[in-house]
Amino acid sequence: MIKNLTIVSVCLIFLFSCQTTQIEEKKEVEKKPEKSPYAEKLAQFKKIDMELDFTDFSPSEREVLHKLGLVAQILDRVYLKQVSINNESVRDEIEASNDPFKNEALELFDLHFGPWDTLDNNKPFYGSAEKPKGVGVYPEDLTKEEFNSWLTAHPEDAEAFKSLYTVIIREGELLKAVPYSQFYAKEIEEVAVLLDEASEVSENASLKKFLKMRAESFRTDSYRDSEMAWMDLDGRIEVAIGPYEVYTDELMGMKAFFEVFITIRNPDESAKLDKYKGSLGDLERNLPIPDEHKNLNRGSESPLAVVDQVLGGGDCKPGVQTIAFNLPNDEYVREQKGSKKVMLKNVMKAKYQAILDPMANFILDENQRPLLDFEYFFLEVLFHEMSHGLGPGSIVKDGVKTTVSACLQETYSKIEEGKADIMGMYNLFYLMDKGELPKEDKQKLMTTYFAGLFRSMRFGIHEAHGAGAAFQYQYLLEKEAFSYQSEKGNFIIDFEKMEKAATDLVRDICMIQALGDYQASADFLAKYAVEAPEVKAVVAKMDKIPVDIKPIYPQL
Ligand code: ZN
Repeated sequence: MIKNLTIVSVCLIFLFSCQTTQIEEKKEVEKKPEKSPYAEKLAQFKKIDMELDFTDFSPSEREVLHKLGLVAQILDRVYLKQVSINNESVRDEIEASNDPFKNEALELFDLHFGPWDTLDNNKPFYGSAEKPKGVGVYPEDLTKEEFNSWLTAHPEDAEAFKSLYTVIIREGELLKAVPYSQFYAKEIEEVAVLLDEASEVSENASLKKFLKMRAESFRTDSYRDSEMAWMDLDGRIEVAIGPYEVYTDELMGMKAFFEVFITIRNPDESAKLDKYKGSLGDLERNLPIPDEHKNLNRGSESPLAVVDQVLGGGDCKPGVQTIAFNLPNDEYVREQKGSKKVMLKNVMKAKYQAILDPMANFILDENQRPLLDFEYFFLEVLFHEMSHGLGPGSIVKDGVKTTVSACLQETYSKIEEGKADIMGMYNLFYLMDKGELPKEDKQKLMTTYFAGLFRSMRFGIHEAHGAGAAFQYQYLLEKEAFSYQSEKGNFIIDFEKMEKAATDLVRDICMIQALGDYQASADFLAKYAVEAPEVKAVVAKMDKIPVDIKPIYPQL
């Protein structure tokens, strides 16, 4: 694991170069600049000790967790290479340098998995090399055009080149696809062995089966069967492990990056949410749009799991921390078995306490401030995720079957992210009216929702979640659902108007989506997804509040 590497290497340097180090340190003390260039960037993340209790875990469960912890360390190393083939040597270079702030540089490097700031459009914070679009899974100089023209000339290569699980390399004049199991052979085999061992030790039949099959997947680059087994996990240890998301591949968006979430299921909390998974049909019927536009034939129900994360590895570690995920991505498995939504409740709570709660002091009128509530932050996130699966998806436009995302093009993700927020609240109103949740909590829900918009707007309107929050803000402001109190510099919500305006907004967005109206979508964003000066002023006052957290997990 990277943090262990840091300690080991620092010790080695100390052992072998004691003399010179001391001399150099003296010199460095004299010329050390006052301010670290990395301090501000590090301060964006608040370190949080994640307290976890394993006292009632059986020895076999502890052993499984220990082995999975070792897997996470190995996948950290694989992911580091996936991000850049030069990452290890750049890290060594920082370590060997005379930079008086090199420890902070290393900390930042480990935090972002490379010398690029994942919070600032991947700009380099060490050195000047730009992050290649194809990161470590394509040759650095490969362009999209060359990739495509190779496939035009060699159609027989298409399957291997487009695979989620291959690295593209140059061999002389040729391009070649190398399966992950070969390219990262040493690490992959170590992972597979550990998964086999963990399977042996496990006493839970579903986990035993999944780990065994997953070991095989790592060895064969074939993940579908073990994804099916993952959907059936029913024990206390809930682990997602493998190459999943393709976001890091900015060249083609094709290659999957390794990650692992080691988590512990909270059975009571998960059971509490079980009642919601059966309500998706009701929620779809309740949307404020004509029935002809409702998506009433939606497929299988999705399982929901509430868990506490005990460790992460690879793709989920750099920069902003994941609070919920929805896997697998394999459409075949989704059709057969649906997908599983996993809520990382302890990470969510840590973010709430470190970020949203202190932010609320700047946002809310003092009389409404006490209404901010973690449970509704949690439910908003859950129903945001669920709302992505509600409303128009496959549509017919001009007699042709198509999808909302194809019609709305580059405006889609902004519209869709804003939709998921506001529809999440709309759905919670419905459950409150039905008596599934306390109706008297509506003000807590609205207050927590409103403060949450600022958490997203802080990321800026160039980003989908930020733009989605900005259009909700402007639309609701126009409907007088809240107002800015310039003398206090904060906001006050009109709860009655807020509830009504939420319905209007859900309807307007869903109709843009239902009609697949690109122009209406672009016009809507141009009008509403804009930065308000009062938001800018309030956000500027929050500069001491961290942007995200850096969870410190106990040794497994
Ligand atoms: Zn979303």
